[in-house]
Amino acid sequence: MAQQHETVAVPGHAGIDIGGTKISALIVDDAGEIRSRGSVPAPAREGGTAMADAAAALAAALAARAGVRLRSAGVGAAGVIDHASGSIRAASATFVGWTGFPLGAELSARLGVPVGVENDVNAFLLGEAAAAGIRDDVLGVMLGTGVGGAVIIDGELRRGPHGAAGEIGHTPGYSDLVCTCGQIGHLETLASGTSIGLRYTERSGRDVGGSREVAALARDGDADARAAFHAAGRALGRACASAATLLDLPRAIVGGGVAHAWELLRPGIDEALHTDAPVSGIPLHILPARLGGDAVALGAIETARSLVLTAAS
Ligand SMILES: [Zn+2]
Repeated sequence: MAQQHETVAVPGHAGIDIGGTKISALIVDDAGEIRSRGSVPAPAREGGTAMADAAAALAAALAARAGVRLRSAGVGAAGVIDHASGSIRAASATFVGWTGFPLGAELSARLGVPVGVENDVNAFLLGEAAAAGIRDDVLGVMLGTGVGGAVIIDGELRRGPHGAAGEIGHTPGYSDLVCTCGQIGHLETLASGTSIGLRYTERSGRDVGGSREVAALARDGDADARAAFHAAGRALGRACASAATLLDLPRAIVGGGVAHAWELLRPGIDEALHTDAPVSGIPLHILPARLGGDAVALGAIETARSLVLTAAS
């Protein structure tokens, strides 16, 4: 009796965001309407098979709950992605057994639909660009635990021959501090959530956590906390200006957890745009992301839908 009201399933797509601590997914129908969303802890230390199992089970459960029959699924995953095969080319040590894992094929076998795999920062930018109606050129920067980047040129993601284009977080010249990658002075040493916490500790002698805690102190007027955000914003602004100068980019979209403290980053960004503006004289607009936690999954769906369209044509 309880099932009597069940309606016929509508066609739709799953977007899956695979991170080091959490797997999030959402289901959209063919009109692009979000029908359901949810997340589960990521079994990142248990290997690729466990991750694929968890991601597929989440997507299937959400689709069933939403009454959606999946036509495709898209995944945004951390690491360097081999876009053609959907496998992971390289990944951080957080992900055990992830490098070389054929994620696309494994998920496709579990879900029974075509699966597109994209680097998570690329997926973030695809999602944000679609939401903003941008069809030409844009830089994307994600300020999270680390700093990731992505570039869309002429409406197309620029992945690079090795899938590693856009790694703005590991460009040098911003400090004399050691980066998570072992090199010196990268943007990430000032602008990641982790780094903002560390830089605050160096200034104040107090360890309060990451960027979220430092942001709360900054809003309460703590000068060291404000200085840590100012340095992050200034480095971010300079990095965006460098990329814009090189590629004639009119805008950058900045997301990730740190971007929630936009009003704290903004003064440093503005200072950098004043002192280091692109010499072209064309204004560079640096904007906060608007999709929040949905950006990666929605961008992954863009990849998945194009896969279905390609197969149909
Ligand atoms: Zn680095």
